[in-house]
Amino acid sequence: MKYVSTRRKDKAVFPAQAIAQGISPEGGLFVPDELPKFSLKEIGEMSQMNYQDRAYMVLSRFLTDFTPEEIRSCIQGAYGEKSEPADKFGGNPAPIAKLCPDTYVLELWHGPTCAFKDMALQLLPRLMSVAVPKTMPGKKVCILTATSGDTGKAALEGFKDVPGTNIMVFYPQHGVSEMQKLQMASQEGKNVSVCAVEGNFDDAQTGVKNLFTNPELKEKLAAYNMVFSSANSINWGRLVPQIVYYFSVYADLLADEEIFLGEKINVTVPTGNFGNILAAYYAKEMGLPIQRLICASNRNNVLTDFIQTGVYNKKRPFYATTSPSMDILVSSNLERLLFALSGGDDNLVSCLMDSLNREGEYQVSPEVKEKLDEGFSAAWCNDQQAAQEIQRLFQEFSYLCDPHTAVAAYACRQYQETTGDKTKNVVVSTASPYKFPSSVLKAVTGENLQALTAQEEFSLADRLEHLSNAPQPLPLFQLREKPVRFTGYCGKEEMEQAVCAFLGL
Ligand SMILES: *Cc1c(COP(=O)(O)O)cnc(C)c1O
Repeated sequence: MKYVSTRRKDKAVFPAQAIAQGISPEGGLFVPDELPKFSLKEIGEMSQMNYQDRAYMVLSRFLTDFTPEEIRSCIQGAYGEKSEPADKFGGNPAPIAKLCPDTYVLELWHGPTCAFKDMALQLLPRLMSVAVPKTMPGKKVCILTATSGDTGKAALEGFKDVPGTNIMVFYPQHGVSEMQKLQMASQEGKNVSVCAVEGNFDDAQTGVKNLFTNPELKEKLAAYNMVFSSANSINWGRLVPQIVYYFSVYADLLADEEIFLGEKINVTVPTGNFGNILAAYYAKEMGLPIQRLICASNRNNVLTDFIQTGVYNKKRPFYATTSPSMDILVSSNLERLLFALSGGDDNLVSCLMDSLNREGEYQVSPEVKEKLDEGFSAAWCNDQQAAQEIQRLFQEFSYLCDPHTAVAAYACRQYQETTGDKTKNVVVSTASPYKFPSSVLKAVTGENLQALTAQEEFSLADRLEHLSNAPQPLPLFQLREKPVRFTGYCGKEEMEQAVCAFLGL
Protein backbone atom coordinates (compact mmCIF):
# COMPACT_ATOMS: atom_id res chain seq x y z
CA MET A 1 0.00 0.00 0.00
CA LYS A 2 1.16 3.52 -0.84
CA TYR A 3 0.19 6.88 0.62
CA VAL A 4 -0.37 10.04 -1.37
CA SER A 5 -0.67 13.66 -0.34
CA THR A 6 -4.12 15.28 -0.47
CA ARG A 7 -2.50 18.17 -2.38
CA ARG A 8 -0.14 16.23 -4.68
CA LYS A 9 -1.10 12.76 -5.77
CA ASP A 10 1.84 12.04 -8.03
CA LYS A 11 4.41 11.44 -5.28
CA ALA A 12 3.55 8.31 -3.35
CA VAL A 13 5.35 7.13 -0.20
CA PHE A 14 5.40 3.90 1.78
CA PRO A 15 3.46 3.60 5.05
CA ALA A 16 6.55 3.93 7.28
CA GLN A 17 7.55 7.13 5.45
CA ALA A 18 4.08 8.61 5.87
CA ILE A 19 4.27 7.98 9.62
CA ALA A 20 7.89 9.09 10.09
CA GLN A 21 7.37 12.32 8.11
CA GLY A 22 3.92 13.16 9.52
CA ILE A 23 3.06 15.75 6.90
CA SER A 24 3.83 15.97 3.20
CA PRO A 25 6.41 18.63 2.21
CA GLU A 26 3.88 20.78 0.29
CA GLY A 27 1.55 20.89 3.27
CA GLY A 28 -0.90 18.15 2.27
CA LEU A 29 -1.93 15.23 4.46
CA PHE A 30 -1.06 11.62 3.70
CA VAL A 31 -3.91 9.28 2.78
CA PRO A 32 -3.85 5.66 1.56
CA ASP A 33 -4.17 5.46 -2.24
CA GLU A 34 -6.80 2.77 -1.79
CA LEU A 35 -8.72 1.61 1.28
CA PRO A 36 -8.54 -2.07 2.25
CA LYS A 37 -11.92 -3.82 2.27
CA PHE A 38 -13.33 -6.16 4.90
CA SER A 39 -15.99 -8.76 4.12
CA LEU A 40 -18.90 -9.44 6.46
CA LYS A 41 -17.32 -12.82 7.13
CA GLU A 42 -14.12 -11.17 8.37
CA ILE A 43 -16.12 -8.71 10.46
CA GLY A 44 -18.07 -11.60 11.94
CA GLU A 45 -14.82 -13.32 12.88
CA MET A 46 -13.72 -10.24 14.77
CA SER A 47 -16.55 -10.79 17.24
CA GLN A 48 -14.59 -13.76 18.61
CA MET A 49 -11.35 -11.79 19.01
CA ASN A 50 -9.95 -9.50 21.67
CA TYR A 51 -9.12 -5.86 20.94
CA GLN A 52 -5.47 -6.57 20.20
CA ASP A 53 -6.28 -9.13 17.50
CA ARG A 54 -8.90 -6.85 15.95
CA ALA A 55 -6.27 -4.10 15.90
CA TYR A 56 -3.86 -6.45 14.18
CA MET A 57 -6.39 -7.29 11.46
CA VAL A 58 -6.95 -3.61 10.66
CA LEU A 59 -3.40 -2.28 11.08
CA SER A 60 -1.72 -5.03 9.07
CA ARG A 61 -3.79 -4.01 6.04
CA PHE A 62 -2.52 -0.42 6.26
CA LEU A 63 1.08 -0.84 7.42
CA THR A 64 2.26 -3.10 4.64
CA ASP A 65 5.97 -2.37 5.10
CA PHE A 66 5.90 -3.30 8.80
CA THR A 67 6.54 -6.96 9.65
CA PRO A 68 3.80 -8.91 11.48
CA GLU A 69 6.09 -9.04 14.55
CA GLU A 70 6.58 -5.27 14.48
CA ILE A 71 2.85 -4.63 14.31
CA ARG A 72 2.13 -7.15 17.08
CA SER A 73 4.73 -5.66 19.37
CA CYS A 74 3.43 -2.10 18.82
CA ILE A 75 -0.11 -3.25 19.64
CA GLN A 76 0.98 -5.12 22.75
CA GLY A 77 3.01 -2.16 23.96
CA ALA A 78 0.02 0.12 23.51
CA TYR A 79 -2.95 -1.97 24.64
CA GLY A 80 -1.37 -4.69 26.75
CA GLU A 81 -0.35 -8.29 26.31
CA LYS A 82 -2.13 -10.57 23.89
CA SER A 83 -5.07 -12.48 25.41
CA GLU A 84 -4.49 -10.89 28.80
CA PRO A 85 -6.43 -7.87 29.95
CA ALA A 86 -4.67 -4.77 28.64
CA ASP A 87 -2.76 -3.37 31.61
CA LYS A 88 -2.89 0.32 30.72
CA PHE A 89 -6.53 0.24 29.74
CA GLY A 90 -7.69 -2.21 32.41
CA GLY A 91 -9.34 -4.72 30.05
CA ASN A 92 -11.16 -3.92 26.79
CA PRO A 93 -9.77 -0.51 25.73
CA ALA A 94 -13.11 0.39 24.11
CA PRO A 95 -16.04 -0.96 26.16
CA ILE A 96 -19.72 -0.25 25.47
CA ALA A 97 -22.43 0.98 27.82
CA LYS A 98 -26.03 0.43 26.76
CA LEU A 99 -28.33 3.34 27.57
CA CYS A 100 -31.58 2.15 26.00
CA PRO A 101 -32.64 -0.25 23.21
CA ASP A 102 -31.43 1.97 20.38
CA THR A 103 -28.58 3.97 21.96
CA TYR A 104 -25.15 2.80 23.10
CA VAL A 105 -22.09 4.64 24.40
CA LEU A 106 -18.60 3.68 23.22
CA GLU A 107 -16.23 4.65 26.04
CA LEU A 108 -12.81 5.57 24.72
CA TRP A 109 -11.34 7.04 27.89
CA HIS A 110 -10.05 4.05 29.82
CA GLY A 111 -6.42 4.83 28.98
CA PRO A 112 -3.75 6.42 31.17
CA THR A 113 -4.86 10.06 30.68
CA CYS A 114 -8.63 9.40 30.69
CA ALA A 115 -9.30 10.98 27.28
CA PHE A 116 -9.79 9.27 23.92
CA LYS A 117 -6.47 10.68 22.64
CA ASP A 118 -4.83 7.72 24.44
CA MET A 119 -6.36 5.29 21.92
CA ALA A 120 -4.07 6.71 19.24
CA LEU A 121 -1.26 8.23 21.28
CA GLN A 122 -0.42 4.99 23.03
CA LEU A 123 0.21 3.44 19.61
CA LEU A 124 1.68 6.27 17.48
CA PRO A 125 5.02 6.52 19.36
CA ARG A 126 5.56 2.80 18.93
CA LEU A 127 4.72 2.96 15.22
CA MET A 128 7.15 5.85 14.93
CA SER A 129 9.96 4.03 16.68
CA VAL A 130 9.59 1.29 14.04
CA ALA A 131 9.05 3.67 11.10
CA VAL A 132 11.97 6.00 11.80
CA PRO A 133 14.80 3.41 11.72
CA LYS A 134 13.24 2.01 8.51
CA THR A 135 13.22 5.35 6.72
CA MET A 136 15.84 7.53 8.46
CA PRO A 137 18.33 5.06 9.96
CA GLY A 138 20.29 6.34 12.95
CA LYS A 139 18.02 9.33 13.62
CA LYS A 140 16.42 10.17 16.91
CA VAL A 141 13.01 11.84 16.88
CA CYS A 142 12.19 14.87 18.96
CA ILE A 143 8.47 15.49 19.30
CA LEU A 144 7.42 19.08 19.92
CA THR A 145 3.81 19.72 20.84
CA ALA A 146 1.79 22.76 21.79
CA THR A 147 -1.29 21.80 23.73
CA SER A 148 -4.51 23.34 24.90
CA GLY A 149 -4.85 20.51 27.42
CA ASP A 150 -5.61 16.90 26.48
CA THR A 151 -3.19 16.24 23.62
CA GLY A 152 -0.08 17.26 25.57
CA LYS A 153 -0.65 14.87 28.43
CA ALA A 154 -1.67 11.99 26.16
CA ALA A 155 1.41 12.54 23.97
CA LEU A 156 3.71 12.65 27.03
CA GLU A 157 2.25 9.46 28.40
CA GLY A 158 2.53 7.80 24.96
CA PHE A 159 6.13 8.78 24.24
CA LYS A 160 7.34 8.27 27.82
CA ASP A 161 10.50 6.10 27.71
CA VAL A 162 9.91 5.03 24.08
CA PRO A 163 13.40 4.27 22.67
CA GLY A 164 14.73 6.69 20.05
CA THR A 165 12.35 9.50 21.01
CA ASN A 166 12.27 12.66 23.11
CA ILE A 167 9.21 14.77 23.72
CA MET A 168 8.76 18.36 24.85
CA VAL A 169 5.33 19.86 25.46
CA PHE A 170 4.55 23.57 25.67
CA TYR A 171 1.31 24.70 27.25
CA PRO A 172 -0.04 28.25 27.55
CA GLN A 173 0.53 29.60 31.06
CA HIS A 174 -3.08 30.82 31.29
CA GLY A 175 -4.77 28.43 28.89
CA VAL A 176 -5.19 25.06 30.62
CA SER A 177 -7.14 23.94 33.68
CA GLU A 178 -5.36 23.39 37.02
CA MET A 179 -6.01 19.68 36.71
CA GLN A 180 -4.52 19.55 33.21
CA LYS A 181 -1.51 21.56 34.39
CA LEU A 182 -0.90 19.14 37.24
CA GLN A 183 -1.32 16.13 34.94
CA MET A 184 1.51 17.45 32.75
CA ALA A 185 3.75 18.89 35.48
CA SER A 186 3.85 15.53 37.28
CA GLN A 187 4.71 13.54 34.13
CA GLU A 188 7.14 10.67 34.66
CA GLY A 189 9.73 9.39 32.19
CA LYS A 190 13.38 10.00 31.27
CA ASN A 191 12.79 11.47 27.79
CA VAL A 192 10.09 14.04 28.59
CA SER A 193 9.95 17.74 29.32
CA VAL A 194 7.13 20.21 29.94
CA CYS A 195 7.29 23.98 29.83
CA ALA A 196 4.71 26.72 30.35
CA VAL A 197 4.79 29.53 27.79
CA GLU A 198 3.81 33.11 28.24
CA GLY A 199 0.54 33.88 26.41
CA ASN A 200 -2.39 31.85 25.08
CA PHE A 201 -2.64 28.63 23.04
CA ASP A 202 -2.08 30.45 19.74
CA ASP A 203 1.20 31.87 21.09
CA ALA A 204 2.39 28.40 22.11
CA GLN A 205 1.27 26.91 18.78
CA THR A 206 2.93 29.66 16.72
CA GLY A 207 6.09 29.26 18.78
CA VAL A 208 6.24 25.53 18.06
CA LYS A 209 5.56 26.08 14.33
CA ASN A 210 8.45 28.57 14.27
CA LEU A 211 10.76 26.00 15.87
CA PHE A 212 9.78 23.40 13.26
CA THR A 213 10.69 25.76 10.42
CA ASN A 214 13.79 27.40 11.98
CA PRO A 215 16.63 26.41 9.57
CA GLU A 216 19.48 26.99 12.04
CA LEU A 217 17.83 24.90 14.69
CA LYS A 218 17.18 22.14 12.13
CA GLU A 219 20.86 22.15 11.22
CA LYS A 220 21.92 22.03 14.84
CA LEU A 221 19.57 19.12 15.36
CA ALA A 222 20.89 17.29 12.29
CA ALA A 223 24.42 17.57 13.66
CA TYR A 224 23.21 15.54 16.64
CA ASN A 225 21.38 13.06 14.38
CA MET A 226 17.95 14.28 15.45
CA VAL A 227 14.79 15.32 13.60
CA PHE A 228 11.65 17.08 14.75
CA SER A 229 8.25 15.47 14.36
CA SER A 230 4.72 16.16 15.49
CA ALA A 231 2.20 14.18 17.51
CA ASN A 232 -0.96 15.89 16.33
CA SER A 233 -3.74 14.33 14.31
CA ILE A 234 -2.43 15.27 10.88
CA ASN A 235 -0.15 12.22 11.26
CA TRP A 236 -1.63 9.08 9.65
CA GLY A 237 -0.23 7.11 12.56
CA ARG A 238 -2.77 8.81 14.78
CA LEU A 239 -5.72 8.13 12.51
CA VAL A 240 -5.22 4.45 11.78
CA PRO A 241 -5.52 3.33 15.45
CA GLN A 242 -8.87 5.13 15.57
CA ILE A 243 -10.33 3.04 12.73
CA VAL A 244 -9.84 -0.04 14.93
CA TYR A 245 -12.35 0.90 17.62
CA TYR A 246 -15.19 1.29 15.13
CA PHE A 247 -14.63 -2.30 13.98
CA SER A 248 -14.29 -3.28 17.62
CA VAL A 249 -17.57 -1.72 18.75
CA TYR A 250 -19.39 -3.42 15.87
CA ALA A 251 -17.78 -6.75 16.76
CA ASP A 252 -18.74 -6.32 20.43
CA LEU A 253 -22.35 -5.47 19.53
CA LEU A 254 -22.39 -8.66 17.44
CA ALA A 255 -20.86 -10.75 20.23
CA ASP A 256 -23.42 -9.35 22.69
CA GLU A 257 -26.20 -10.17 20.18
CA GLU A 258 -27.34 -6.57 20.15
CA ILE A 259 -27.16 -6.54 16.33
CA PHE A 260 -27.09 -9.16 13.54
CA LEU A 261 -24.19 -9.47 11.10
CA GLY A 262 -24.71 -6.90 8.36
CA GLU A 263 -27.13 -4.72 10.37
CA LYS A 264 -26.33 -1.06 9.85
CA ILE A 265 -25.62 1.23 12.77
CA ASN A 266 -25.32 5.00 13.12
CA VAL A 267 -22.43 6.64 14.92
CA THR A 268 -22.45 10.05 16.64
CA VAL A 269 -19.06 11.67 17.26
CA PRO A 270 -18.19 14.77 19.33
CA THR A 271 -15.97 16.55 16.86
CA GLY A 272 -13.13 19.07 16.91
CA ASN A 273 -10.32 18.47 14.46
CA PHE A 274 -12.40 15.89 12.52
CA GLY A 275 -9.99 13.03 13.23
CA ASN A 276 -12.29 10.75 15.21
CA ILE A 277 -15.28 11.00 12.85
CA LEU A 278 -13.02 10.65 9.81
CA ALA A 279 -11.81 7.32 11.18
CA ALA A 280 -15.49 6.23 11.34
CA TYR A 281 -15.95 7.33 7.73
CA TYR A 282 -12.94 5.24 6.67
CA ALA A 283 -14.32 2.24 8.58
CA LYS A 284 -17.59 2.64 6.69
CA GLU A 285 -15.76 2.83 3.34
CA MET A 286 -13.84 -0.31 4.31
CA GLY A 287 -17.07 -2.26 4.56
CA LEU A 288 -18.20 -1.78 8.15
CA PRO A 289 -22.03 -1.59 8.10
CA ILE A 290 -22.49 2.05 9.10
CA GLN A 291 -25.48 3.96 7.81
CA ARG A 292 -24.93 7.55 8.94
CA LEU A 293 -22.28 9.53 10.74
CA ILE A 294 -23.61 12.31 12.93
CA CYS A 295 -21.12 15.10 13.52
CA ALA A 296 -21.71 16.77 16.90
CA SER A 297 -20.35 20.24 17.68
CA ASN A 298 -20.52 22.72 20.52
CA ARG A 299 -21.19 26.44 20.04
CA ASN A 300 -18.17 26.58 17.70
CA ASN A 301 -20.48 25.05 15.10
CA VAL A 302 -18.49 25.62 11.91
CA LEU A 303 -18.84 21.93 10.97
CA THR A 304 -22.62 21.87 11.49
CA ASP A 305 -22.92 24.76 9.07
CA PHE A 306 -20.55 23.11 6.61
CA ILE A 307 -22.40 19.80 6.59
CA GLN A 308 -25.75 21.54 6.23
CA THR A 309 -24.77 24.12 3.56
CA GLY A 310 -21.54 23.01 1.88
CA VAL A 311 -19.90 26.31 2.87
CA TYR A 312 -16.95 26.24 5.29
CA ASN A 313 -16.54 29.66 6.87
CA LYS A 314 -14.06 30.16 9.71
CA LYS A 315 -14.70 33.92 9.95
CA ARG A 316 -16.78 33.80 13.10
CA PRO A 317 -16.35 34.42 16.82
CA PHE A 318 -14.43 31.82 18.83
CA TYR A 319 -16.19 30.66 22.02
CA ALA A 320 -14.53 29.08 25.05
CA THR A 321 -16.98 26.33 26.06
CA THR A 322 -17.27 23.60 28.70
CA SER A 323 -16.10 21.12 26.01
CA PRO A 324 -12.72 22.78 25.33
CA SER A 325 -11.27 19.97 23.19
CA MET A 326 -13.91 20.79 20.56
CA ASP A 327 -13.23 24.55 20.57
CA ILE A 328 -11.81 24.63 17.07
CA LEU A 329 -12.56 26.71 13.98
CA VAL A 330 -10.24 25.03 11.48
CA SER A 331 -10.68 21.25 11.46
CA SER A 332 -7.54 20.08 9.73
CA ASN A 333 -8.65 16.51 8.98
CA LEU A 334 -11.62 17.71 6.93
CA GLU A 335 -9.06 18.01 4.14
CA ARG A 336 -8.84 14.22 4.00
CA LEU A 337 -12.63 13.92 3.67
CA LEU A 338 -12.69 16.46 0.83
CA PHE A 339 -10.04 14.43 -0.96
CA ALA A 340 -12.11 11.26 -0.58
CA LEU A 341 -15.45 12.83 -1.54
CA SER A 342 -13.98 14.47 -4.64
CA GLY A 343 -12.66 11.14 -5.89
CA GLY A 344 -9.05 12.06 -5.02
CA ASP A 345 -8.94 15.45 -6.74
CA ASP A 346 -5.68 16.93 -5.38
CA ASN A 347 -6.02 20.14 -7.41
CA LEU A 348 -9.44 20.79 -6.02
CA VAL A 349 -8.24 20.19 -2.43
CA SER A 350 -5.30 22.57 -2.95
CA CYS A 351 -7.65 25.26 -4.24
CA LEU A 352 -10.10 24.86 -1.36
CA MET A 353 -7.32 24.99 1.24
CA ASP A 354 -5.86 28.03 -0.46
CA SER A 355 -9.20 29.75 -0.36
CA LEU A 356 -9.56 28.89 3.33
CA ASN A 357 -6.15 30.43 4.04
CA ARG A 358 -6.64 33.57 2.04
CA GLU A 359 -10.35 34.27 2.29
CA GLY A 360 -11.28 32.31 5.39
CA GLU A 361 -13.89 30.25 3.54
CA TYR A 362 -14.67 27.87 0.69
CA GLN A 363 -17.69 26.20 -0.86
CA VAL A 364 -17.79 22.66 -2.22
CA SER A 365 -19.37 21.70 -5.56
CA PRO A 366 -22.93 20.29 -5.73
CA GLU A 367 -21.45 16.83 -6.49
CA VAL A 368 -19.30 16.86 -3.35
CA LYS A 369 -22.20 18.24 -1.31
CA GLU A 370 -24.38 15.38 -2.51
CA LYS A 371 -21.80 12.82 -1.36
CA LEU A 372 -21.57 14.61 1.97
CA ASP A 373 -25.36 14.40 2.37
CA GLU A 374 -25.29 10.67 1.64
CA GLY A 375 -23.16 9.88 4.67
CA PHE A 376 -23.26 12.73 7.17
CA SER A 377 -25.70 14.57 9.40
CA ALA A 378 -24.80 17.28 11.90
CA ALA A 379 -26.13 18.94 15.02
CA TRP A 380 -24.77 21.19 17.75
CA CYS A 381 -25.66 22.43 21.23
CA ASN A 382 -24.59 25.15 23.63
CA ASP A 383 -23.14 24.69 27.14
CA GLN A 384 -26.50 24.89 28.85
CA GLN A 385 -28.01 22.21 26.60
CA ALA A 386 -24.95 20.01 27.16
CA ALA A 387 -25.32 20.42 30.93
CA GLN A 388 -29.01 19.47 30.70
CA GLU A 389 -27.99 16.40 28.71
CA ILE A 390 -25.53 15.36 31.45
CA GLN A 391 -28.34 15.71 33.99
CA ARG A 392 -30.83 13.80 31.80
CA LEU A 393 -28.48 10.85 31.21
CA PHE A 394 -27.76 10.69 34.91
CA GLN A 395 -31.42 10.85 35.96
CA GLU A 396 -32.84 8.55 33.28
CA PHE A 397 -30.05 5.98 32.97
CA SER A 398 -27.80 6.58 36.02
CA TYR A 399 -25.09 7.24 33.46
CA LEU A 400 -22.45 9.86 34.16
CA CYS A 401 -20.80 11.50 31.16
CA ASP A 402 -18.41 14.38 30.50
CA PRO A 403 -19.36 17.59 28.63
CA HIS A 404 -17.86 16.44 25.27
CA THR A 405 -19.84 13.20 25.36
CA ALA A 406 -22.94 15.18 26.37
CA VAL A 407 -22.69 17.25 23.18
CA ALA A 408 -22.74 14.03 21.18
CA ALA A 409 -25.61 12.54 23.20
CA TYR A 410 -27.60 15.71 22.58
CA ALA A 411 -26.88 15.61 18.84
CA CYS A 412 -27.80 11.93 18.67
CA ARG A 413 -31.16 12.55 20.36
CA GLN A 414 -31.87 15.54 18.16
CA TYR A 415 -31.09 13.47 15.07
CA GLN A 416 -33.33 10.64 16.24
CA GLU A 417 -36.20 13.00 17.08
CA THR A 418 -36.09 15.07 13.90
CA THR A 419 -35.61 12.18 11.46
CA GLY A 420 -37.48 9.37 13.20
CA ASP A 421 -34.53 7.12 12.26
CA LYS A 422 -34.68 4.06 14.53
CA THR A 423 -31.28 2.71 13.48
CA LYS A 424 -29.18 1.76 16.51
CA ASN A 425 -26.89 4.63 17.37
CA VAL A 426 -23.45 4.49 18.98
CA VAL A 427 -22.55 7.72 20.81
CA VAL A 428 -18.79 8.08 21.08
CA SER A 429 -17.61 9.09 24.57
CA THR A 430 -14.27 10.88 24.50
CA ALA A 431 -13.39 11.76 28.10
CA SER A 432 -13.96 10.51 31.63
CA PRO A 433 -16.46 12.68 33.54
CA TYR A 434 -13.78 12.99 36.24
CA LYS A 435 -11.61 15.03 33.92
CA PHE A 436 -14.18 17.81 34.32
CA PRO A 437 -15.55 17.36 37.85
CA SER A 438 -16.83 20.90 38.38
CA SER A 439 -18.77 21.07 35.07
CA VAL A 440 -20.25 17.61 35.60
CA LEU A 441 -21.19 18.06 39.26
CA LYS A 442 -22.69 21.46 38.46
CA ALA A 443 -24.79 19.87 35.70
CA VAL A 444 -25.95 16.98 37.87
CA THR A 445 -26.84 18.95 41.01
CA GLY A 446 -27.73 22.31 39.48
CA GLU A 447 -25.45 24.00 42.03
CA ASN A 448 -23.42 27.00 41.00
CA LEU A 449 -19.90 25.62 41.37
CA GLN A 450 -16.53 26.83 40.29
CA ALA A 451 -13.21 25.19 41.11
CA LEU A 452 -10.18 27.44 40.96
CA THR A 453 -7.45 25.11 42.16
CA ALA A 454 -6.61 21.47 41.55
CA GLN A 455 -7.37 20.78 45.24
CA GLU A 456 -10.89 22.15 44.79
CA GLU A 457 -11.36 19.99 41.68
CA PHE A 458 -10.29 16.93 43.70
CA SER A 459 -12.84 17.57 46.40
CA LEU A 460 -15.58 18.06 43.78
CA ALA A 461 -14.47 14.77 42.18
CA ASP A 462 -14.93 13.07 45.58
CA ARG A 463 -18.43 14.54 45.89
CA LEU A 464 -19.27 13.37 42.37
CA GLU A 465 -18.08 9.86 43.17
CA HIS A 466 -20.13 9.76 46.35
CA LEU A 467 -23.23 10.96 44.50
CA SER A 468 -22.94 8.76 41.42
CA ASN A 469 -21.19 5.61 42.64
CA ALA A 470 -19.19 5.70 39.39
CA PRO A 471 -15.55 5.10 40.42
CA GLN A 472 -12.88 7.73 39.75
CA PRO A 473 -10.21 6.52 37.32
CA LEU A 474 -7.02 5.64 39.20
CA PRO A 475 -4.67 7.88 37.16
CA LEU A 476 -6.73 10.96 38.05
CA PHE A 477 -7.13 9.91 41.68
CA GLN A 478 -3.40 9.27 42.07
CA LEU A 479 -2.64 12.74 40.77
CA ARG A 480 -3.17 14.15 44.26
CA GLU A 481 -0.01 12.44 45.48
CA LYS A 482 2.19 12.83 42.42
CA PRO A 483 5.23 15.09 42.92
CA VAL A 484 5.52 18.04 40.55
CA ARG A 485 8.57 17.58 38.31
CA PHE A 486 8.25 20.45 35.86
CA THR A 487 7.87 24.07 36.90
CA GLY A 488 9.65 25.59 33.86
CA TYR A 489 8.31 28.77 32.33
CA CYS A 490 9.56 30.68 29.31
CA GLY A 491 8.74 33.78 27.32
CA LYS A 492 7.54 33.49 23.72
CA GLU A 493 11.07 34.26 22.49
CA GLU A 494 12.78 31.74 24.75
CA MET A 495 11.27 28.51 23.45
CA GLU A 496 14.29 27.69 21.30
CA GLN A 497 16.58 27.96 24.33
CA ALA A 498 14.25 25.69 26.28
CA VAL A 499 14.38 23.03 23.54
CA CYS A 500 18.18 23.24 23.23
CA ALA A 501 18.61 22.96 26.99
CA PHE A 502 16.35 19.90 27.11
CA LEU A 503 18.09 18.14 24.21
CA GLY A 504 21.56 19.12 25.38
CA LEU A 505 22.40 20.90 22.11
C1 LIG B 1 -9.66 15.79 20.94
C2 LIG B 1 -10.99 15.61 21.58
C3 LIG B 1 -12.19 15.68 20.83
C4 LIG B 1 -12.21 16.00 19.35
O1 LIG B 1 -11.72 14.96 18.55
P1 LIG B 1 -11.28 15.23 17.03
O2 LIG B 1 -10.67 13.97 16.57
O3 LIG B 1 -10.30 16.37 17.09
O4 LIG B 1 -12.51 15.60 16.27
C5 LIG B 1 -13.39 15.45 21.49
N1 LIG B 1 -13.42 15.20 22.82
C6 LIG B 1 -12.31 15.13 23.57
C7 LIG B 1 -12.42 14.87 25.03
C8 LIG B 1 -11.05 15.32 22.98
O5 LIG B 1 -9.94 15.27 23.75
